[in-house]
Amino acid sequence: MNGLEISPFIQALPKVELHIHIEGTLTPALRWKLAHRNGVKLPYATFEELLDSCKHLNNISVTYNHRKEVNSDDGRPTFLEAYFAGCQVLITEDDFYELGMAYLERCAEMNVRYCEPFFDTQAHTERGIPARTVMDGYMRAQREGTKKYGVRSNWIFCFLRDRPLSEGLAAYHAARPWAGLADGTGKGLFHAVGLAANEFEKPPLLFEEGFQLAKKDGLHVTMHCDVDQKDAADHVYEAIFEVCGGKGTERIDHGLNAIDRLELITGLKDRGIGLTLCPHAYHRRQATEVLFPKIKKLIDKGVKVCINSDDPTYMHDVWIDGNMQKAYTYSGLNKADMVKLARNGIEVSWAEEEVKKSLLKELGTISVED
Ligand SMILES: [Zn+2]
Repeated sequence: MNGLEISPFIQALPKVELHIHIEGTLTPALRWKLAHRNGVKLPYATFEELLDSCKHLNNISVTYNHRKEVNSDDGRPTFLEAYFAGCQVLITEDDFYELGMAYLERCAEMNVRYCEPFFDTQAHTERGIPARTVMDGYMRAQREGTKKYGVRSNWIFCFLRDRPLSEGLAAYHAARPWAGLADGTGKGLFHAVGLAANEFEKPPLLFEEGFQLAKKDGLHVTMHCDVDQKDAADHVYEAIFEVCGGKGTERIDHGLNAIDRLELITGLKDRGIGLTLCPHAYHRRQATEVLFPKIKKLIDKGVKVCINSDDPTYMHDVWIDGNMQKAYTYSGLNKADMVKLARNGIEVSWAEEEVKKSLLKELGTISVED
């Protein structure tokens, strides 16, 4: 993990994870297994070649070509291209179930008690996979993950922001029976909507109609504001002050560019909007001494920051525990600060009240003497 060992303190912290893309947890081993089970041809002759390609990809993302629109097309795959290539092996309900269960098992190992994984249906329906196959698989994992691993989850349906709004709205309508709706109906897989995929020239307000629909259904709303994306601070502004009829989003995923303008920091605090940060994702492109003081500043200013992992298998296999360790080590935080970050995660989560209460109580028993 980039030379950092996970300390026993970080390992033992009860955690919630609020920013994780389920397809970003597809390990090379599961990808290999599903490709063979489904007869999907991978461009690798052996498992070792697939592993090598992951190392190669990770090296690429460390250096430059994260986004072609920013860095120009040098012929190498971008992060999102690699991510969607990984999705090709997910075909049957069992595949989605196994992907969900593998993540929830990993959660249990890292002492993650509750999580809110992002999923979308658009990347799968365009390959001819019915939306119900995707959601029935995840829902089975949601139920069995609680029973088998003691990890609870409420999932987040994402609009893919680089696709037309009309396509996203159609996907939402198709997914709606799997939501936990305000009137108590619905299957209860997801309780929120989010906004994911390539943000280039796709500001949050483009999806206002989707947010309004979700709000009317009693769902929560969150959205990605990627780091150092074009117009990043303007997108954060929209998310805080303009979406949802001016009420603003409830959480922002990333949103580190709030640091660029004081009004954004003030807005986040005044409106109690949480930031789901993923330090390792930024550490791939920002120096330690540049990045971690920014995270520390947001925490010191009183913004509700929590620590998450984003797409761990495409980001050097650094999971939530590794991200927490980085924040702990490089931001100069003490144990009490880390407990605070874990508490923020619980507070800005959409877990049931009794889940929140019992996790907060447990956090209160953690020794914070350094
Ligand atoms: Zn993300």
